[in-house]
Amino acid sequence: MKLLATVTASALAASWEYPETFGVDGSSWGDECTDQVRGSPIDLDYTYRNFHFMDCAENWNMTGYDQQASWNFADNEHTIVLTSDDYDAKFSGGHIGNEYQFHSFHFHWGDKAGQGGSEHTINGHHTFAEVHFVHYRSDIDLVTGLGLGDGLAVLGFMIEVTDGDESNEAIGELARRLRWHSNKQGNEDGSFRHFDFSISNLIEGVDLSNFYRYEGSLTTPPCSEAVQWTVFKDPIRISRQTAANLLRSADLADEHIEDNFRPVQPLADRNVIFYSDSSAAFKAAFRNERNFDREREFRDYDWLNNYHEDDHHHDHEHDHHHDDE
Ligand SMILES: [Zn+2]
Repeated sequence: MKLLATVTASALAASWEYPETFGVDGSSWGDECTDQVRGSPIDLDYTYRNFHFMDCAENWNMTGYDQQASWNFADNEHTIVLTSDDYDAKFSGGHIGNEYQFHSFHFHWGDKAGQGGSEHTINGHHTFAEVHFVHYRSDIDLVTGLGLGDGLAVLGFMIEVTDGDESNEAIGELARRLRWHSNKQGNEDGSFRHFDFSISNLIEGVDLSNFYRYEGSLTTPPCSEAVQWTVFKDPIRISRQTAANLLRSADLADEHIEDNFRPVQPLADRNVIFYSDSSAAFKAAFRNERNFDREREFRDYDWLNNYHEDDHHHDHEHDHHHDDE
């Protein structure tokens, strides 16, 4: 698996950049990312005509996700990819039809101004960030899976910033260490010392019984239309400190990677199914959320509010400027 991961990583590391461009000054995401019929990410809006509520939550059958392991990190110039040698986690159930083997995980985020950087949006709005746990069908390998409509499955979790005490400790420590490595060595490939964690630690406390499902693609070149997408309704919650660290977790030639998300793609004729334990309750909740979102021009969370660690000087300048007026 390690060899496969290496081959795939280098094959996908061809030159492309955020934001997505098509043939502009030589930088392009390529033809396969153009005019897709099942592109990802998408906007998740329950009023869309192909949006369906399904009331039958089928249990997830997840094995190996509790495994405490050491992890490797690699800066692929677009995000940080985390892998673990011999991490043997797989799932079935959750209405997905196959068994899928865990491969790796990575994050998408916005920028320091607090612009959200999740890939999927909810009612047109980004959350702070999003984490993707990439899986491939356990009866084939990852590369074969890229050529099949159900070859891959990604479990996606929205990440929101909280002031409460329910922030995720494992992601807190992970982001702190990634930022340290970023400052120290520009995130060349490496591994963490004395920091083992499990995937379960990263999603601790998240309710897995309510989720969106649709057929989509990779959100980076080659945009393979091979992914059974699951996006969970319940987010992972992180602290402002962790949010600040995550934004600085990847560094390339002294430039922080930011806004590493692809814009939402047309849903077209695809179905989005929201599986839950109570569709009636969620219909009401979705209606309230959507009305709330529509009242705002943008989701004006200042995610790093009160956490402008580098901006104290700036704040003072602002105060003076205000006095001068
Ligand atoms: Zn992703």
